[in-house]
Amino acid sequence: MAKPVIAIVGRPNVGKSTIFNRLVGDRLAIVEDRPGITRDRLYGTGEWLDKPFSVIDTGGIEIDGEDEMLKSIRVQAELAIEEADVIIFMVDAKAGLTPADEEVGQLLFRSGKPVIVAVNKTDNIKLQENMYEFYSLGFGEPIPISGAHGIGIGDMLEEAVKHFPEDDEDPYGEEVIRIALIGRPNVGKSSLVNAILGEDRVIVSPVAGTTRDAIDSPFERDGQKYVLIDTAGMRKRGKVYENVEKYSVMRAMKAIERADVVLIVINGEEGIIEQDKHIAGYAHEAGRACMFVVNKWDIVEKDDKTMQRFTQTIRDHFLFMTYAPIVFLSAKTKQRLHKLLPVVSEVAEHHSMRISTSVLNDVINDAVSVTPPPTDKGRRLRINYATQVAVKPPTIVLFVNDPELMHFSYTRFLENRLRESFDFTGTPLRLITRRKASDE
Ligand code: GDP
Ligand code: GDP
Repeated sequence: MAKPVIAIVGRPNVGKSTIFNRLVGDRLAIVEDRPGITRDRLYGTGEWLDKPFSVIDTGGIEIDGEDEMLKSIRVQAELAIEEADVIIFMVDAKAGLTPADEEVGQLLFRSGKPVIVAVNKTDNIKLQENMYEFYSLGFGEPIPISGAHGIGIGDMLEEAVKHFPEDDEDPYGEEVIRIALIGRPNVGKSSLVNAILGEDRVIVSPVAGTTRDAIDSPFERDGQKYVLIDTAGMRKRGKVYENVEKYSVMRAMKAIERADVVLIVINGEEGIIEQDKHIAGYAHEAGRACMFVVNKWDIVEKDDKTMQRFTQTIRDHFLFMTYAPIVFLSAKTKQRLHKLLPVVSEVAEHHSMRISTSVLNDVINDAVSVTPPPTDKGRRLRINYATQVAVKPPTIVLFVNDPELMHFSYTRFLENRLRESFDFTGTPLRLITRRKASDE
C-alpha cells in the first residue's frame, strides 16, 4: 500500500536534509547494503507510532539548468504540492524570516495542502523567542525543532500524522497481481501498457487507485487477474519538471510501493545508463519481485549472439539483481509480447512462496556442513535455527549465537544455496540474523 507522503520544503541551508536523515535514518540503516545499489537522500521511509510514511527531501532534487535559487525552490515547492499529503515547511530560527521563505510560503498557501511550519535550529530556549515572526506565514502555530539536537521532531510528526489520509481500502484482492512498469522516459512504458491491454485501450474500466491521483488498469488473462499500477501517472506529461530525472524516480517509487511485480523497462536500442540502475535499485530494496523488459527489440540489429550479449550486459550492470529474469520484446510490433505475462505470474508466485521450517533447516544445515560459518577471534558463528517469517519477499530469520559474527559473504553464500534448492526466480530474499534468546 502506498504510504502517506511527507514532503520537506524550504530554502537551502535551513536543515532539510538533516531532518530527512532523522526521519528515515534508521530505516536506511537496516536495509541490506550491497555493492551496486545507488542510494540517494531524496526519498525514504520512516515510521511514527507504528504509522509508516514516505518522506521526500525536495532539496535533494536538482533542477537541471536552474542555477537561480528562487526558481529552483519554486519548482521544488510545486513538486511537494503535487506529491505530498502533508508539507513540512522548514525555516531557520537563527536566520529568521527571509524573503525566500515568504516566497515559498505564498506558493504553499495557494495550494491548499496541509502545511506545518517547522522552525529548525531552535537549539535552546532562548532561540524560541525567534519563533513569533513565523506566525506571519499564516500556517498556524510554528513548531520549534532542532535537527542537530533531536528536539521537537516528535511534536512535528504528531502534527503531520493528523493530516494523513484515512487508510485507503485495498481495492484489489490477494489474488490480483499488481504490476508496475518503471524506467526512464521514452523507453516505451506507455506503449507497453497499450500493448498489454490491447490496442488503443490505454485505460480499461479505470479504477481509482489508493493514491489519490493514480489510475490503475485492471485486466484478466488466462484466468489470472492483474492490475497495471498508476497508468495515468505514467502518461502525465507536459509539466515543467517531467524531465527532471529525480521526479520520474519519485513517480516510480510510488508505483513500486503499490506493486507486487516491477517491470524494469530498458530501451534495447540504447542500452543501460546510470538512471536505469538507480530505479532498479529502489525496486530491489523495496523487496518487490523484479524483472527486466528489454523493449524496442524490433529495431535492434541482431545476430545469434545479441540476446546473450545483452543479457550479460544487464548482469554486469545489475550485480545485485541476478535473480531477475529478462524478457526481450517489442511493444510496437508485439514481437515476443506473449512471453511477458507468464513470467510475471511466475515471479509473483515465487515472491509469495512459503518454505516449511523443516525443509528450510535441512537446506541451511547442509549448507553449513559444506561451508562452515565464519569465525572471529576464535568464535564461530552458530546457526541454531531458521524460519521464514514473511512473504513478498520471502523473509527468513536465522537465529544465531552472535549476529556480529555473520558476514555479508556468508549471507550471500546462504542465499545462493537457498536459490539452488528452491526456485526464487524474480524475487529478492531477505535474510535477517537474530540472536537466539538463550545465548544472551
Ligand atoms: P538543507 O540545505 O536545508 O538540506 O540543510 P542541511 O540539512 O544541509 O543543513 C544546513 C546546515 O545547518 C548544516 O551545517 C547543518 O549542520 C546545520 N543544521 C541543521 N540542523 C540544525 C540545527 O538543528 N541546529 C543547528 N544549529 N544547525 C543545524
Ligand atoms: P515512455 O515514456 O516510457 O512511456 O515511452 P513511450 O511508450 O511514450 O514510447 C516512447 C517512444 O518509443 C514512442 O515514440 C514509441 O512509439 C516508441 N516505442 C515504444 N515501444 C517501441 C518498440 O517496441 N519499438 C519501437 N521501434 N519503438 C517503440
